[in-house]
Amino acid sequence: MLISAIVLLSACGASKSLSYQDGGKLRITTTTGMITDAAREVGGTHVEVTGLMSAGVDPHLYKASQGDIRKLDEADIIFYNGLHLEGKMNEIFENMAKTKTTVAVSDSIERSALRSGSLMKTEYDPHIWFDVQLWMKATETVRDTLIKQDPAHAEDYKSNAAAYLKQLEQLHQEVTKQILTIPEASRVLVTAHDAFGYFGDAYHLKVMGLQGISTASEAGTKDVTDLRDFLVNNKIKAVFIESSVPRKAIDAVIQGAKEKGHEIKIGGELFSDAMGKEGTPEGTYIGMVRHNVKTIAEALK
Ligand code: ZN
Repeated sequence: MLISAIVLLSACGASKSLSYQDGGKLRITTTTGMITDAAREVGGTHVEVTGLMSAGVDPHLYKASQGDIRKLDEADIIFYNGLHLEGKMNEIFENMAKTKTTVAVSDSIERSALRSGSLMKTEYDPHIWFDVQLWMKATETVRDTLIKQDPAHAEDYKSNAAAYLKQLEQLHQEVTKQILTIPEASRVLVTAHDAFGYFGDAYHLKVMGLQGISTASEAGTKDVTDLRDFLVNNKIKAVFIESSVPRKAIDAVIQGAKEKGHEIKIGGELFSDAMGKEGTPEGTYIGMVRHNVKTIAEALK
């Protein structure tokens, strides 16, 4: 009897662990690495977080696999960015929301604080994590959702969130100071796609992207020549590539400028829509922001 009980237990354990109401962990499935990180920080030891998108993955183009659907299906809570960042997954979230807690972390941010999309005027820019203070709001949404779902651990969620929010507030101050070290005329950030709008607004840089706010539309010839002319006319010395966007288009701009007698160098690689590899400093939200700011400040100074 004992043996069969053990076999039965381990069989259950392999496929389905205890529910959080019975002392198991709250199961959370997230989309981007930034959200995965926030859920782990706030949830601490009470949660098990599964992130769908790993390093270098472009969320605009991401399509959920059968395995992903299962991970979403098994979760107690689903967190996603929203504002159409995960453009190919909208229908899935709508369906999941019928049966379980499915929350866009951007939901609690006042619409007046959002940028409108540069391509389609009706759409908002989804890249909210580039303004650390907006990401603090997203973190609060994670906290409030966890408390509502699992009130038994409310105090822990509150204190975990408070500690993380304090780190984010310090990060915000740090970014502000670093950008101020760049001479004002050089505070121009040119990247492959238009992800850094919130960053520019929050930290006072002019931002230009070669593609619109989604990578779903490829940069056209006119985008390339417009950007080339801007760089040549304003003597901008460095542009940046992104880990989740192919560098083909930005190379075309550099080549075009060269033909007009203006040398542009690659200022470095920035993490835009995906974080670095897990286990590296850039594999956390805070580490990713630090890497970006350091890269930008060093290249433009
Ligand atoms: Zn993007």
